[in-house]
Amino acid sequence: MFATLSDRLADTFKNLRGKGRLSEADIDATAREIRIALLEADVALPVVKDFVAAVKERARGEEVSQALNPAQQVIKIVDEELVTILGGETRRLRYAKTGPTVVMLAGLQGAGKTTLAAKLALWLKDQGKSPLLVACDLQRPNAVQQLQVNGDKVGVPVFAPEAGNGVGDPVGVAKASVEEAKRKLHDVVIVDTAGRLGVDAEMMSQAAAIRDAVQPDEVLFVVDAMIGQDALTTAQAFLDGVGYDGVVLTKLDGDARGGAALSIRQVTGKPVMFASSGEKMTDFDVFHPDRMASRILDMGDVMTLIEQAEKAFDQEQALKAAQKLSGQGGEFTLDDFLEQMQQVKKLGSMTKILKMLPGAGQIREQLENFDEREIDRIEAIIRSMTPAERHNPKIIDGSRRARIAKGSGRTVSDVNGLVDRFFEARKMMMQMAKGGGMPGMPGMPG
Ligand code: GDP
Repeated sequence: MFATLSDRLADTFKNLRGKGRLSEADIDATAREIRIALLEADVALPVVKDFVAAVKERARGEEVSQALNPAQQVIKIVDEELVTILGGETRRLRYAKTGPTVVMLAGLQGAGKTTLAAKLALWLKDQGKSPLLVACDLQRPNAVQQLQVNGDKVGVPVFAPEAGNGVGDPVGVAKASVEEAKRKLHDVVIVDTAGRLGVDAEMMSQAAAIRDAVQPDEVLFVVDAMIGQDALTTAQAFLDGVGYDGVVLTKLDGDARGGAALSIRQVTGKPVMFASSGEKMTDFDVFHPDRMASRILDMGDVMTLIEQAEKAFDQEQALKAAQKLSGQGGEFTLDDFLEQMQQVKKLGSMTKILKMLPGAGQIREQLENFDEREIDRIEAIIRSMTPAERHNPKIIDGSRRARIAKGSGRTVSDVNGLVDRFFEARKMMMQMAKGGGMPGMPGMPG
C-alpha cells in the first residue's frame, strides 16, 4: 500500500532539491503535483483540498523562505500535514476503570472482523491482559466456528452460544458473555458481531441492540482498506447506524492505493486505532500516525522495527553476541551467526524487515524480488559444517568447501560466497560495536 504515492511524492521533492529559494511558481508546481499524487492514491477530494491548501500556505511562509534547505522544509511540512490527516496523536485503547473492558467490533462481512478479533486478543494477551472472545455473529455460517479456530490459534477462550445461553440471540449471548467474563476474571471482552455484504438496516439495528445491551467501552469499526472510497461510505453508514469510537484498518498489506486510510479520519472524525496487515495473527499493530507518515515519505519506521525486535529477540543471546562483537567473551563464530539468523527469522519475513528501513522505497523492486529461501539456503550451508569449521571458519579449505557444498546441496561458489560474507559482516559488526552503534544488531545475510 502507498507505493505509488511514495514514489510520486519522492519525485516531487526531487524537483525541489538544490533550490536555494522557492519561487511562487515552484510552490504552485509542488502543490499541483502533491494534489495529483493524492488524487491518484484515491484520497477523498475534500481531504486533498484541505491538505494541499495547508501545505501551500505553509510553503509560502517564513519557515520555508528562511530555511537553509527549502526542499527539506517542504518535506517536513508534508510529513506534519500527513500526520495531521492521519489523526495526529496515537489513540490508545481505553480500559474500563472497574469490571471488564468491553470492546465491540462492527463492520461489513469480509472486512476482517473475525480475524481481527483474534489478533486483538493476542495483542492484549501480550500486554498481560486476559481477554475473552465472544461470538455474536450468528448469521454467517461458520462464523462461530471460525472464531473458535482463531481463538485456539492464539490461546484465548471463545464464548459462543450453546443450549441455554441464547442460541440465535446475539444480544443474549453478548450480555451473558460479560457475566461469564466477570465470573472467570477476564479483564477484556471482545465482541465479534455479524456483518452483511452491504449496509443494511437489520444488521445496523442488531449491532445497535448489542451495543445498548453491553455498553462497550470501545466500539471499533473494522474496514477493509482495499475497498477504496467505498470504505468512506460504509464508515459513514456505520457512524449513523451504530456509532463507534475508533477505526481498524485491515488488509494494509494489499496493493490498494491507500486513499481510504488517508481519508477516513478526516471524513468520520474518528481516529484509526489499529491496523491489520496480513493473514498471520501477529500481523497487527497499534496505528501510529507519525510512523505511517514516515513510511509514506520513505523515511522508514525504525521505531516499529525496534519494538518488534525487542519482543522477538532473546535478550541474553543478543547480549552475548554483542559482547563477542566488541571483543569480549570469545570470538563471534558461524554458530553465533546462525543463532542470530534464527532470531531475525522470528521477526517474520526479511522483506518486511527491510521495508521498515529508511530509503526502502528506492530498492522496492529488489525487495519485491527478494527470495526468502535465501536464508534457508544459508542455514543449510552452515549446518553442513562441522563444529570445528563453524567455530573457526578460517580452516575451511578447498576440500572442506567441496564437502560442505555437497552436504547442503549448494555449489562451491555458494559456500565461498557465504564464508566471504561472514567475514565481511563480522568485520562490519565489530566496527559498529566498537563505535557504540547498534549493539546486538543481528548479522544480515547479504
Ligand atoms: P469478517 O467477515 O469481517 O469476520 O472477515 P474475516 O475475518 O473472515 O476475513 C475475511 C478474509 O480476509 C479472510 O480470508 C481473512 O483471512 C482475510 N484477512 C483478514 N485480515 C486480513 C489482512 O490484514 N490482510 C489480508 N491479506 N487478509 C486479511
